[in-house]
Amino acid sequence: MAADSTDNTPETPAPGEDFIRAQIRRDNALGTYDGRVHTRFPPEPNGYLHLGHAKSIFLNFGVASEFGGRCNLRFDDTNPTKEDTEYVDSIREDVRWLGGDWQAGEYYASDYFERLYDYAQQLIRMGKAYVDDLSADEIREYRGTLTEPGRESPWRGRSVEENLDLFRRMRAGEFPDGMRVLRAKIDMAAPNLVMRDPTLYRIRHAAHHRTGDKWPIYPLYDYTHCLSDSLEGVTHSLCTLEFANNRELYDWVLDTLGIYHPRQYEFARLNVTHTVLSKRKLIQLVESGHVRGWDDPRMPTLCGLRRRGVPPEALREFCARVGMARANSTVEYAMLEFCIREHLNAHAPRLMAVLDPLRVIIENYPQGQVEEFDMPLHPEDPSHGDRKVSFAREIWIERDDFRLEPPKKYHRLSPGAEVRLRYAYFITCREAVVDARGKVTELRCLYDPQSRGGQSPDGRRVKGTIHWVSALHAREAEIRLYEQLFAVENPDVAPEGGTFLDNVNPHSLRIARGLLEPALANIGTGVSVQFERLGYFCKDKDSTPEMPVFNRTISLRDTWAKLEKQQTTRD
Ligand code: ATP
Ligand code: MG
Repeated sequence: MAADSTDNTPETPAPGEDFIRAQIRRDNALGTYDGRVHTRFPPEPNGYLHLGHAKSIFLNFGVASEFGGRCNLRFDDTNPTKEDTEYVDSIREDVRWLGGDWQAGEYYASDYFERLYDYAQQLIRMGKAYVDDLSADEIREYRGTLTEPGRESPWRGRSVEENLDLFRRMRAGEFPDGMRVLRAKIDMAAPNLVMRDPTLYRIRHAAHHRTGDKWPIYPLYDYTHCLSDSLEGVTHSLCTLEFANNRELYDWVLDTLGIYHPRQYEFARLNVTHTVLSKRKLIQLVESGHVRGWDDPRMPTLCGLRRRGVPPEALREFCARVGMARANSTVEYAMLEFCIREHLNAHAPRLMAVLDPLRVIIENYPQGQVEEFDMPLHPEDPSHGDRKVSFAREIWIERDDFRLEPPKKYHRLSPGAEVRLRYAYFITCREAVVDARGKVTELRCLYDPQSRGGQSPDGRRVKGTIHWVSALHAREAEIRLYEQLFAVENPDVAPEGGTFLDNVNPHSLRIARGLLEPALANIGTGVSVQFERLGYFCKDKDSTPEMPVFNRTISLRDTWAKLEKQQTTRD
């Protein structure tokens, strides 16, 4: 059943195929695992998942579904002091959000503690593990360096009986934290430092979120991971490159015990500019108060991205474009933005909202009259249907859509100029009311009743089209406008004497009061929409019936040019 290690030579990928899928295809052709494909996604529940984990989720669950295999969700919970059920719950939610389906099972490394303990005793009986009394510092000192071999611990020669006795007493809780460890007995002169008698167990009198006070000793990652893979019948154990050196130990443990042996393959971590992807750093952002929590929409956590309105399909596409390299590199944040825009452009309904309102009074529009216009929810996709939008004498437009002194080629509103109100009417600005400080407070305009629906009555062309909302019908909303959390490309390069936290962009959140067309106030939490000409927004969970709250997912690009083209081709 165990894979022959000679199968580990890389397979040449077919066009469009990555090296991992090539390997699996080859294993299936050779019958290495009787055609079985079984992966796992193994997060440690010590923080929330982030964008980097998305890559691993899509890979592990993706490979399993493409090859008709299975993928386990496994919580790698061997470090009681840093782990918590809050994280377990969030991880389950995030994996599900990305489409990860762990029907194959939900597993916990802590469920194997008893068996891992038995295997450790077996290693001791084989003379392959010993209890060491050196302190953590001494162990480090004895380890040697890349150029110098390590030294053997004076306790390395303990008898099997003594080791078994001490290990059992470690388990019984007889010794304080740090007094002893269990180590594998391999080779203190091994060129790979990982192989110089690695620690397998340490004493830690700490309650675990699942096993409570049952265990005063906890197994280490390298020992736990390979055994968990083996016990679950995993075939391809996919992890990131920093574990390449640990593969030798992975193999040693399973080979020494002579049990079922999956293979480990390493791929490049996802790194993205303008962000940090490490739970340790994300925790610092939360705890220092630089963001409002793990799910702050500026966070690169999966729950933050979700709350911001990033569709899972955009993350999937992003990870597909990044691909599976065997060397680390950093991907442009702009590529993620591209994927988000592409998906939302195709799928998000369009509605109107004004974020910096300027009042417009249409003087020749009858007092008290209200008209309803049918407007498409998506200009290119009629399947979205229409919505009705009310129009009346007073409307709000975007302050930026008016200039007292327009620059050349400014096609929006200015004194004497005519524009199209999106899907409504042509209006001409007759007068701008200016206060004592020179601020425009109101526009007085005239509309052309013949231009109903925004259609030119006589072939006369207007170049600008602007969005608007009826003052009588508008609903107020809080709009959260986000910029990059880090304005610098590599936040890890800290200023002299500082940390990455000093690179946090102080302008990453700006709050505006917007005015919405009424349909927007009633959409569901988490639904993505486009505010015409402004960007993509998503209703936030902080919304109340009185005050809807929207997050800006991402701004638009090239909207202006596109909208004009669209509207002129309609004329
Ligand atoms: P962090 O460094 O953020 O703490 P981690 O690697 O310690 O992450 P785990 O919970 O151990 O986090 O990760 C679960 C799985 O996700 C592992 O298989 C790990 O290799 C993978 N993973 C974590 N970060 C990335 C990343 N940036 N790119 C790709 N895969 C990742
Ligand atoms: Mg980890």
